[in-house]
Amino acid sequence: MTRSPVRHTIVVGGGVVGVCCAYFLAKRGAKVTVLERDQIGRAASFGNAGCIAPGHPPINKPGRVRQALKSLFHPLSPLYVAPRFDPALVKWLWSFSRTCTEKHVEIAMQSLAPLGHASRALFDELVEAEKLRCWFSRDGYYEIYLTERGLESAKEEMRMISRYGFHPEVLSGAELRQREPAINDRVLGGIFYPEAATINPYQFVLEIARRTERHGTKFRTTSEFVSLRIVNGRVRGVQLENGESIDADSVVLTAGAYSAPLLHRLGIRFPLQAAKGYHRDCETKPGGAPLLSHACVLGENMVFCTPMDGFVRFAGTLELSGVNHEIRRPRLEQLTKAASRYLQTMEDATVKSEWCGLRPCLPDGMPAVGPVSRYPGLFVATGHAMMGLTLGPVTGKLIAEHVLDGAPSMDISALRPDRF
Ligand SMILES: Cc1cc2nc3c(=O)[nH]c(=O)nc-3n(C[C@H](O)[C@H](O)[C@H](O)COP(=O)(O)OP(=O)(O)OC[C@H]3O[C@@H](n4cnc5c(N)ncnc54)[C@H](O)[C@@H]3O)c2cc1C
Repeated sequence: MTRSPVRHTIVVGGGVVGVCCAYFLAKRGAKVTVLERDQIGRAASFGNAGCIAPGHPPINKPGRVRQALKSLFHPLSPLYVAPRFDPALVKWLWSFSRTCTEKHVEIAMQSLAPLGHASRALFDELVEAEKLRCWFSRDGYYEIYLTERGLESAKEEMRMISRYGFHPEVLSGAELRQREPAINDRVLGGIFYPEAATINPYQFVLEIARRTERHGTKFRTTSEFVSLRIVNGRVRGVQLENGESIDADSVVLTAGAYSAPLLHRLGIRFPLQAAKGYHRDCETKPGGAPLLSHACVLGENMVFCTPMDGFVRFAGTLELSGVNHEIRRPRLEQLTKAASRYLQTMEDATVKSEWCGLRPCLPDGMPAVGPVSRYPGLFVATGHAMMGLTLGPVTGKLIAEHVLDGAPSMDISALRPDRF
């Protein structure tokens, strides 16, 4: 099929997903403008745990609903639903609960596992070909447990993940300590995920943005998208908050946890909730944060501990409390408190940065990537929840294929944005 050349694509949102979309479009010769209402990479993509964790299932799992219900009364639990009256949240929780089944996890894995493999390979290619300086380490990570119960459920998940071409390995506490001396004696055992990698996520976004600029892409910061311009049923550009309109043949919405109102205004049902997470960065020094050589995930607490340039990032918790950036200090403090139960030398670590960010979460735990059939020329790439960094590159590549070729090279029909 011969397609007329795409003249101009606008990408709305300059997080990891938007910047990766712009990169793959621009690299293939498209003219691209990125609109970012704030600064590039300063929202969720700024302070996440930096783990590229391919093959991990979505958070929708059997038993999650019980956990979420219990958490209503425990504001310090890793998964927390802030009690409030919000019909959209109630609907979201209802849809979420219906997909917390073994069957759904398998369905999700059939899409997410190939995407994870492809994205992991793209990280290798990008870092090498574009000479990205972003603290990339291919060393995998350890998921570590204090309790038999936690370890048993991790082994179950590991067996499921192994069926999708990943090679996790069970390790005893002693084996873990031999490989990572910062792990303390209380840890019973864990799982090593060798296909995983770590990166400084903000540096990655900045580096990719710089390379994209070299391909001619314009980055317009402090430019807020308000609405689409539609002419004869087709997308013809966008309208900005300052009244300016920009012509384009296609628009890719990558506004992360802030995407829902933009889509609702177009009459598209898009049940997105923001899931807040926190980080605390601590300097690595004797007596402070441990000098980890690998990332560790504190299994029972769902806290990632990722070594980066001169500090360890403790990141995690999932809080459904709406779109706001309020830091609940007791929850933030749980990150380092949890770490001192699993790791050596945590007590007096010097805190370098504290942060919260919003993960864009859809109730079936899968992202939305692809065209919106009702508006030819409109594409969506968001809803990546805990996988936005991991799946950023493959999402960018597939969106570029959608826009430029009319179809992606992988079957991502399960991720249709208008599936709700
Ligand atoms: C604590 C924590 C730890 C995490 N750890 C990991 C991890 O280890 N691995 C992993 O893969 N993922 C992780 N994630 C998830 C990951 O951070 C997100 O999935 C990812 O950053 C989402 O990227 P995004 O580009 O969709 O959104 P964002 O990074 O939020 O970017 C969206 C951008 O759109 C802009 N925008 C919004 N509205 C408009 C508008 N109207 N006009 C113009 N611009 C607009 C915003 O300003 C923002 O810059 C973590 C998240 C958190 C909170």
